[in-house]
Amino acid sequence: MEKRVCKKSVKELYDSYKRRTGRKISLSKFRKMHPKRSLTVDRHNIQYCLCQYCINIEFVLRTLQVVANTNRIPFSQNTKYKIAEATVCTNLPKCLEGNCDQCGTEILTDKLLAQFRDVLDSTVSWKKWRSGQTKQGERKHKVLVEEKGTLRMCVENLCRQAGTFAQHLFTATWQTDQFN
Ligand SMILES: [Zn+2]
Ligand SMILES: [Zn+2]
Repeated sequence: MEKRVCKKSVKELYDSYKRRTGRKISLSKFRKMHPKRSLTVDRHNIQYCLCQYCINIEFVLRTLQVVANTNRIPFSQNTKYKIAEATVCTNLPKCLEGNCDQCGTEILTDKLLAQFRDVLDSTVSWKKWRSGQTKQGERKHKVLVEEKGTLRMCVENLCRQAGTFAQHLFTATWQTDQFN
């Protein structure tokens, strides 16, 4: 699924829902139709979104999981869904739009830094897809690179990316539901 598609706002989804179904419901009612369960239900079957955003988060998680296994650290936010969940609370529409002052990536950062507190200075590497350029400086294409740094940098990198991730997954999941 393309990133562009995944990143639609709730309002955009609402508009396309109205167009597609012809139903007349209010925006607030529409929001209530899509509760947090979209992020939590049926995790193991959800392979919906395989965009660059999701894959890069999973690369970081893979690195953290290896460190957790090696050091016998209980690692609870070890899937992209749990990462997303850790950044939202129950104030839902606002959380997903990034307008909630009760939640956000700080909670996730604190949790991860606490879990990995004993190994934060160790050196790790993680893979990352990023948009690159050809030698001619034209046509952009994606390149797989390897980033290196301390585990703390790795965690901070993940948390920076997690800012709009809940909304992204929620939207991607919701859109896939429409085709099932
Ligand atoms: Zn995605
Ligand atoms: Zn919230």
